[in-house]
Amino acid sequence: MENKRVRLRFAPSPTGGLHMGGVRTALFSYLFAKKHNGDFILRIEDTDQTRYVKGAEEYIIESLKWCGIEPNEGVGFGDGPHAPYRQSERKELGIYAKYSKQLIDGGHAYYAFDTNEELDAMRKRLEAAKVVAPQYNSVSRQNMRNSLTLSEDEVKKLLDAGTPYVVRLKVPRNEEIRFHDIIRGWVVVNSTQVDDKVLLKSDGMPTYHLAHIVDDIDMEISHAVRGEEWLPSAPAHILIYRYLGKEDVMPKLAHLPLILKPDGNGKLSKRDKSGIPMFPLNWFDERTNESYVGYRESGFFPEAFVNMLGMLGWNPGTPQEIFSLQELIEAFSFERVNKSGAKFDPEKTKWFNQQYLRKKSDAELAELFLPILKENGVSAETSYIEGVCRLVKEKAHFVNEFWAGGSYFFIAPTSYDEKVIAKKWNENSKGVFTKLIEEFTALNVWDATTIHNAIVETETKTSAKVDLQLLRVLTSGAAGGPAIHDMLVLLGKEEVIKRLNSALQTLNSNS
Ligand code: GLU
Repeated sequence: MENKRVRLRFAPSPTGGLHMGGVRTALFSYLFAKKHNGDFILRIEDTDQTRYVKGAEEYIIESLKWCGIEPNEGVGFGDGPHAPYRQSERKELGIYAKYSKQLIDGGHAYYAFDTNEELDAMRKRLEAAKVVAPQYNSVSRQNMRNSLTLSEDEVKKLLDAGTPYVVRLKVPRNEEIRFHDIIRGWVVVNSTQVDDKVLLKSDGMPTYHLAHIVDDIDMEISHAVRGEEWLPSAPAHILIYRYLGKEDVMPKLAHLPLILKPDGNGKLSKRDKSGIPMFPLNWFDERTNESYVGYRESGFFPEAFVNMLGMLGWNPGTPQEIFSLQELIEAFSFERVNKSGAKFDPEKTKWFNQQYLRKKSDAELAELFLPILKENGVSAETSYIEGVCRLVKEKAHFVNEFWAGGSYFFIAPTSYDEKVIAKKWNENSKGVFTKLIEEFTALNVWDATTIHNAIVETETKTSAKVDLQLLRVLTSGAAGGPAIHDMLVLLGKEEVIKRLNSALQTLNSNS
């Protein structure tokens, strides 16, 4: 174990869209693997055929690619020395059956022939006897139809007759099971609380419990990182490693804390209504006809999404919050992952995107804004689009807000913010703005200073104030926006004069 190469796997089941909690598990595994120059592997755990969802595997692969946390081995990423990486295909190698047989031969697993009706009856019996958590275990198995209670002959007969059976782990009675978790420290559980987990199902498929252990051994996994919901199963897994004689190669375990709702009350649901996506990419669930919006399609930058996820349950121990993927790799350690749940913060999530938006150059933003402009049927010189990005980015969290905040840079207003007009437009306004148009027309240089001077000049000549908010509304239609002088400079002299003339005409004919 000591000098084992660092190899971590992300092992999702293709049972639906990969939600952001799953992406975080992948991220933390990736960070640790990269930090230690190790491998990051994608294994698809598709042994539960009843829960298989078409398209889920492709979704997982595309999500990892979008996030930039790419496995160097595994399904969709060129496979590698341990191919195949899909458990349904690995079953064909006979490895799960082999290990299951080894457990049976060693007296640590057994055949169970109980029908669903018999299992139901057992549950009811235990409930009637006020057993808190009825389960198939070291006590209840004594009254069931399995190779521990039936004679060898009977078992052979049933097997020969092709009677459906499952293989169960034989959990000992009243034994202390101790294991170490890198995040939680030592965990001690009494085996009485552990059920006799099914290892092989009646269709011959292994369950998660057996399959992931066999694969982690075979794929030489050094650290198994997974969600907290798997913690209760860990004692059974420890026993399986022990009974297989593989404790020495058992991966180190790390169970990540839950992601909690924004108010801290319970686990974050994929149907959360905070307005922030729960899935990396758009996802449509064919079984329930539900669609989920993705971070990508909502205009989040993958770097912002990954940065936010990185801080969900981990902290660097310093006030730094903005981390590139490379910086996360350098700073990451499981010691700084919290044991307690991590509250999801929708506002902070938007804030992360804003930070990355501000870091982008105007040229990069212009490129992202271009398709939106096309959709809206407008075009402009690149330098002009870059100028618009420079002005509207300060107040935006997303590029897709640029249009709402700055469409007037491309389309002259035809209506004017009514509240401002009602409040500010008076009998002097026409005269003042007519004079301002004259002063603007006379300018040879068009910049913030000359615009300012023309305004002062107009005020002197008309003995009235040029209301700047009114000026903004007459030239953009909107009550708010970037600094007025910057806005006018970018719009350009001709355009500003044209817009003022047309505003005066409209307001005049309305009054
Ligand atoms: N297939 C399991 C899941 O979907 C993986 C758990 C693990 O990483 O061991 O959550």
